[in-house]
Amino acid sequence: MRIHRVHTRQDLEPGLKVSIRDRAAHYLTRVLRITAGQTIVLFNGDGHDYVADVIRPGKSEVVLQVTSRLPAARESKLQLTVVQAISRGERMDQTLQKCTELGVQSFQPLFSERVEVRLRPEKLERRLQHWQAVVVSACEQSGRALVPEVCRPLDFGEWLYRAAPAFRLVLAPGAGRPLASMELPDAVELAVGPEGGFSEVELDLMASNSVRFASLGPRILRTETAGPAAVAVLQALAGDLV
Ligand code: SAH
Repeated sequence: MRIHRVHTRQDLEPGLKVSIRDRAAHYLTRVLRITAGQTIVLFNGDGHDYVADVIRPGKSEVVLQVTSRLPAARESKLQLTVVQAISRGERMDQTLQKCTELGVQSFQPLFSERVEVRLRPEKLERRLQHWQAVVVSACEQSGRALVPEVCRPLDFGEWLYRAAPAFRLVLAPGAGRPLASMELPDAVELAVGPEGGFSEVELDLMASNSVRFASLGPRILRTETAGPAAVAVLQALAGDLV
């Protein structure tokens, strides 16, 4: 039987009794139909899985007893940040979900010239929470115990000119070197354009600010395909997909 994994924000340690409430409790009890005595896994993003026995199921509160802590050795040694120009609705969700499954460590949403999504401050907060929830559920599903952070969106210029990490890549159709032939350091930022791509000005600015150009083959991929495909290539180069 599949062991269910559930995210919680609480501190966890073996011996602790924890209570899961509200939506998560409803999900466990009504959707997954857990029963007393069943074992599930809790995780809070600290890099461990916590095995827990269900003591009392219930639709508004589930009480569990944590029995052991296991290191969840599922992280890539490549510290990969995906800098994704914000795409519309479901596309952004797909990028976040697939890239989390593939082991990305953090996400930097980006407003670039051709991004069509506008987010007022109240909407931005809600969208960030939604994006983080997409990442959390991809972690529940894929067995990751470290939860990638979805950072606050930056404007293109803020991202380009901030204290730069050592190695930045931009995916650009038909330009630069094939991604699959790159030599990678331990930490990489990978920028992916929006539906309409990066503008010429943005590409020029990146070229003159030591962002390396990488291509992903002869076909133009949709933005939500390009990100996960590139992450798979990078993780293969880093020896993670073994
Ligand atoms: N009309 C746009 C296409 C954008 S595709 C253009 O011609 O630029 C969306 C993004 O996916 C691109 O900005 C790029 O970052 C990435 N991408 C798609 N296909 C790619 C490829 N074959 N090589 C490199 N990057 C690609």
